Formats: sequence, C-alpha cells, structure tokens
Amino acid sequence: MWSMNPIRLLKGSFRHGVHPEGHKEQTADLPIQRVPFGSRYVMPLGQHIGAPAKPVVNVGQRLHRGQLIAEPGAFVSTCLHSPVTGRVVSIGPQRHIDGTFTRAIEIEADPFATQQLAPSPGLDWRSLDMVEFIDQVQQAGIVGMGGAAFPAHVKYSIPEGQQIAELLVNGAECEPYLTNDHRLMMERPGALLQGVGILLEKLGAKRATIGVEANKQEAIDILNDHLGPDQPIRVISLPVKYPQGAEKMLIKAVYGKEVPAGQLPRDIGVAVNNVGTVVAIADWFESRMPLIERVVTVSGPGAAYPANLIVPLGTPVREVLRFCGGLRPETREVVMGGPMMGSPIASLDVPVMKGTSGILAFTDSETARPREYPCIRCGRCLEACPYFLNPSRLARLARARMFTEMKAYRVTDCVECGSCTFACPSGIPIVQLIRAAKDNLAHEPRDQGAE
Ligand code: SF4
Ligand code: SF4
Repeated sequence: MWSMNPIRLLKGSFRHGVHPEGHKEQTADLPIQRVPFGSRYVMPLGQHIGAPAKPVVNVGQRLHRGQLIAEPGAFVSTCLHSPVTGRVVSIGPQRHIDGTFTRAIEIEADPFATQQLAPSPGLDWRSLDMVEFIDQVQQAGIVGMGGAAFPAHVKYSIPEGQQIAELLVNGAECEPYLTNDHRLMMERPGALLQGVGILLEKLGAKRATIGVEANKQEAIDILNDHLGPDQPIRVISLPVKYPQGAEKMLIKAVYGKEVPAGQLPRDIGVAVNNVGTVVAIADWFESRMPLIERVVTVSGPGAAYPANLIVPLGTPVREVLRFCGGLRPETREVVMGGPMMGSPIASLDVPVMKGTSGILAFTDSETARPREYPCIRCGRCLEACPYFLNPSRLARLARARMFTEMKAYRVTDCVECGSCTFACPSGIPIVQLIRAAKDNLAHEPRDQGAE
C-alpha cells in the first residue's frame, strides 16, 4: 500500500536552517504530571488565530467543566469551554502576554467540585459526513497545538477539486527546551494513532507519516511498537534541525516537495497536524472531551523544578510556576512557547492558552543581548533562512523604516523563526527588526507607506 504513495518519501532535510543547542535533557525523561486545580481561570476570547469567540454565558452563571462558554465569531474562529466547574465572575479586559488588555471570561473554580468530566460514550465519527465532521472539530475548540493556534477545522475544509493524499503528523518539536510533544508521543501513543486513523478516514488520505526528530528515539520506538502491520502509517526519524517544525519545512524534509510561496500544504495534497492536535481529535471523538487542557513544558535555567504538565487552560502562569517550585532568583525573563519563536510575557498573571507549548524561565546569561556590531556581509543569515529571504537587507530596510520596500523582498514570507538572528555573528537583532516592521505594515493605512 505504501508504494502507491504519489509523493516520494525522502526522509532528508530542508535547505538552510540552524542547529541551536537542544536543552531537552532537563525534561525529556520527566513523565507528564497533572497540575492541581486552582481557584481562578482566565479564558481570552481571542486565544486562536481568526475572529475572537463570542461569549454565550453571563456573569454569575454556574458552569460545569467542559461546558461551552463562547461560540465561534466566524468560520475562522473556534469554541471555548470552561476548564473547570465554577462560576463566571467577569467578562471583560484581562492582561495579555504582551502587556496589553484583551477580552476574556474569568471563572472562579468551585472548591468543592470533583472537576471530573462526566463519562461519555464518544461520537460515531464514521457516520458523520465531512460538513458534520468539520463542525464537530470546531465545536470541540481544537486548534493547532504546536503554538500557532490556527483553528483545526479550517485545515480540514478542503476546497472542491482538491484532495488530501498525505496526512503528515508533526512530531518534530524542533524548538529547544520543549518536550511536551515528545512526552505525549511516549505516553499517549494509542490516542495519537487513534486520532491519525480518524483523520486518515475523514480526509480521505491514503497514508500518514509521523515525522519525529532523531533526538526522540524512545518516542519513535514506542509509536512503532503500537503500529499494526497493515496500518498505512509510518514513523520516520528526521535529522535534528531548526525550524523543522514549520510545516513547509517538514513537508520538504519528508517528501522533498516545496509548497510554493503563497500556497498551502493542501494545495500539494498534504494536511499537516501537530501531535497534540491529533490527540485532541481522538479525545473529542472518543470521549467528547473538548480542548480544556494541554501539555506544557516548564523549563529553562530559571525554573526551580522543570516539568511536563497537564495544565487546565486559563491557569495563570504564576500558579503553574508555583507548582514547579517557583522561579530561581536569577530569573530575568519568562517566555511563553519556545526560545526561538516564543514571546516574553509581561506579567505572570497571564493565563496558559491553547497555543502555550512551554513556559521557559531564563536568566541573564540567556537573555543578555549580544553587543551589536556593523553587518560584515558574511551571508550567514542568508544561509540560515529556510525561506530563502535576504534577512540582512530586510533588517537594513526595517531600520530605515522603508517598510513598503520590504514587501518587494518578501517580508510577508518571513515566519519569524529567528534563524537569521541566531546565525548572525554581529549580534544584529534581525528578526526583532523584521517583526516590528511587519507590525508597522499591518497597522499602516492601505494608501500610505514609506516611499
Ligand atoms: S528572515 Fe524570517 S524566515 Fe528567514 S530566517 Fe529570519 S526570521 Fe526566519
Ligand atoms: S549574518 Fe549578520 S553580519 Fe552576516 S550578513 Fe547577515 S546581518 Fe550581516
């Protein structure tokens, strides 16, 4: 069956990219633990890409764990559910990770509730047509769990005339420090393969490939042990390289195929899903558990006791860190996500959200900005950029505030992976300059621009 694959399986690599230190040994061997339920939860309405969700509950209303609290604000949007049994105490502005305020539903947990989800027989997913399946995925509130938080059901909405031949499951986890996907593959291989089976059938894909970087050999072995002989699913070991978890890079590494700029993986017949997303699919269809918790890696030199944790969404970062013994005194910065693409948080009171893969605490030695020198035109940033951009030129244009000119140099193709900054011997904050420029472009009136 595998030989019918229309896309050749390469098991190679993509061009360019970088090799940051992995730092995964701090948590790779730590089994996932559950964080105890706390007292206060904050669910931002816009914690996914797309339109914010719309509240369907009122202040004072009692909720049970898993109850719908907000419905999709548009097709590219998704549902939110209560992470705990409790009561709505407010619907209004709450602190966001960048220090701004964003609308959220605040819930006070019932201290006497068991916080058990009512057992459910699951859903007969085989009997659903594609429209019903997509609706169910949206009802479950499932998003891409690798960090992007793009609503999963949108990926499954395949335009007429297109067909998905390959399901590619992203187990690369190329960001340093993070081991949440690694542990999920090791501890829930059955659920992962169940989710793969559901998606294979519903998307009409012929086969699935689970791409895992070679530094997670135990996960590869466990998944292989769980695979039946006739399953159209393969687990492949990929060379360790950043940013292999970016879906276009993973496709290039696995199949040797490029997704042209401006196109999506589905345009070449591939659907890419993170391992956490696939497990969430299995949880919804097998037990009707919506996305109300996720696995988070707590790590970094500033974390007293690194850990892999199941955290109810909405839990304040402060509570998660308290469970891990707090922060070491030398901590200077806490980052949500990985160190390459994550964001420093403005307050420890911000909540864990659907896209929160890690909470990393860094000290002076990791956060000190390197002394900046003039560009020596060494070209290392060009060699590092997996999207074949010219980061040095983009940085120069950004500094000169020539934002409109940056479009001609494909600034919109930049995924902000940070490989260029990592590679630059002159300490030029290239990705930070590009990010600021993109922000300026996004807020610029359409008829204006630097000329
Ligand atoms: S220019 Fe963008 S895509 Fe290229 S390496 Fe830098 S951050 Fe990554
Ligand atoms: S890596 Fe740094 S010094 Fe080298 S060309 Fe790029 S911006 Fe200039």
